[in-house]
Amino acid sequence: MRFISTRGGSAVNGSAAAIMTGLAPDGGLFVPEELPRISREDLTALTEMTYGERAVFLLRLLFDDFTSDEIQSCVLAAYGPHFDDRAIAPVRTITDRLFMLELWHGPTGAFKDMALQLLPRLMAAARSAAGRSDTSLILVATSGDTGKAALEGFRDVPGTRIVAYYPQTGVSPMQQLQMTTQQGSNAHVVAVYGNFDDAQTGVKALFSDRERALELADMGYSLSSANSINYGRLAPQIVYYFSAWCDLAGQGAIAADEPVDFVVPTGNFGNILAGWYAKRMGLPVGRLVCASNRNHILSDFLGGGRYDTRRPFHQTLSPSMDILVSSNLERLLFEASGRDAAQVAAWMQALSRDGSYTIPARTLGHIREDFEGGWADERQTRAAIAEAWRKRRILIDPHTAVAMHVQARRRRSGRAAVVVSTASAYKFCGDVYAVLTGRTAPADPFAQCDALWEATGIEPPRWLRTLRELPVIHRQSVYPQHMGEALLRMLDMAGQ
Ligand SMILES: *Cc1c(COP(=O)(O)O)cnc(C)c1O
Repeated sequence: MRFISTRGGSAVNGSAAAIMTGLAPDGGLFVPEELPRISREDLTALTEMTYGERAVFLLRLLFDDFTSDEIQSCVLAAYGPHFDDRAIAPVRTITDRLFMLELWHGPTGAFKDMALQLLPRLMAAARSAAGRSDTSLILVATSGDTGKAALEGFRDVPGTRIVAYYPQTGVSPMQQLQMTTQQGSNAHVVAVYGNFDDAQTGVKALFSDRERALELADMGYSLSSANSINYGRLAPQIVYYFSAWCDLAGQGAIAADEPVDFVVPTGNFGNILAGWYAKRMGLPVGRLVCASNRNHILSDFLGGGRYDTRRPFHQTLSPSMDILVSSNLERLLFEASGRDAAQVAAWMQALSRDGSYTIPARTLGHIREDFEGGWADERQTRAAIAEAWRKRRILIDPHTAVAMHVQARRRRSGRAAVVVSTASAYKFCGDVYAVLTGRTAPADPFAQCDALWEATGIEPPRWLRTLRELPVIHRQSVYPQHMGEALLRMLDMAGQ
C-alpha cells in the first residue's frame, strides 16, 4: 500500500516507511492511498472472533507490507495478560440502546495503550526487516496519557530511545507520577514550561529542524514520532470500533447490519478519526459524535466550519483533551476536500500564520454527513461523573464523563450509541473522589486512590498498585525554545 501526504509533497511505499517516518517531510500526515474494504461476510466472520483475532485480521490489511507472522506475533504480544480484562476492549451495557466501550484495561490505564502496545513492536519488526543499525529516537509530546503509554510501549525495545515531553502545568498528579517514575534504560521524561500546545509545537519544531537532524544522524539517531499523527497509532485504533460493533451484533443487541453511533471524547482527533476510517472500510457506523471539553474548538468547527485557535486555553478536569491544535483533523480535511492537498496546505498555513482558517460550506457539508459535535463544561463534567455513579454504579473518569454528557444532550436518533470510555477513573482519583463524596480529596495521590476505593468499593487497577513502589527518577524541565540543545545534551550523557 502506498502512503501519500495530506500536503501533496511526499509519498512512501508501505506502512513500515510511514510508521518510521512519522510525519511526512512536507509537514503533512501520511494517509493510505486506498483503504481496504470489509465485506458483510468478513463482518460476520469477525463477529465470531476474539479481540486478538479481529486485530490480526484487520491489521494484516492495514499493514499489508508486514508478513502475517509479524502481525500475528506483534498482536499476540501487544494484547496479552498484561491487560486486566481478557476481552481487551470490553463493551458494557448501560441501557438497551446505550453501551460503553472500555479502552483502558491496558498497562497504563488509558486508551493510548491500544495503539502504543502495538506500534513499538511493529517498529522493531520493521527495523530488523530493513536491517537498520541506527537508533530510532522517538520524541513524543503528551497531554498526559500518550507519554506514559509510549514510554511503557517502547521501554527497553532494542534500537529505540524515547523522550516524552509533558506540560509542566496541566497533567494530573497521577499522570505525572506515572511518567516521572518510568523505568527502562532507553527512556527519558522532560517537563516543558507551558501547556500541551507549547510542548507539541516544540516537538514539531525539532522534527522540522534539518540542522538538528544532521547532528542527531551524526550521533546515530534518526527521528521518529509516536504521536497520534503516526499512521502506526491510527490503524490499531480502527480495530476496536470493529470489535465493539461485532460484540453488539454477536450478542444480538443490534441487527446484523445495523449502524451504531460512537460518542468519542476528543482532543487531537486521533481516536474519532479511526472510527471514521472504520466506517469508510465498511463498518456500519451512523454518526461519529465529537465530544469536547471547555476547549471546544472542534465542536465549534463542526458547527460552523471555522477553526479558530484565537481563544483562551483552559485547563480542565479532562487534561488529555486540553488541546487547541488537533493535528489529526488534517487527515479528515484532506478526504473531505476531495484530496485537495494544495487546499489543505493553504489551510494549515493560515492556521500557523493567523491562528485560524475557514472551510467552504460544501466541505463542511461532507464532514457533517458523518460527524456532529457537542461539549461539556466543568460543572457538567462533574455532574456526569456523579450521575453515572448514582444511577448506575459506573465509575467513570472526566474524559468519559464529557462524552456521557454530550450523549445525554443529543437529540434521540433511535440508533444504538456507544460511548467510548478512554481512561480509568483512577488516573484522576482526586477529582473523581471529590465529585462523588462532596469532600476535599487528600493531598497525596495515593491517599486519594485509597479514599476512592473505600468510597466506591471498586478496586484500583494493577498499574496503580505497582506505581506506589517506584521511586521518582525523572526531574528535568526545559523551556520550549531550549528543547533542541537540551535533547543533544541528554543524548550525549546517555551515550556515555
Ligand atoms: C488522548 C485522550 C483523549 C483524546 O484522544 P484524541 O485521540 O487525542 O482525540 C481522550 N481521553 C483520554 C483519556 C485520552 O488519553
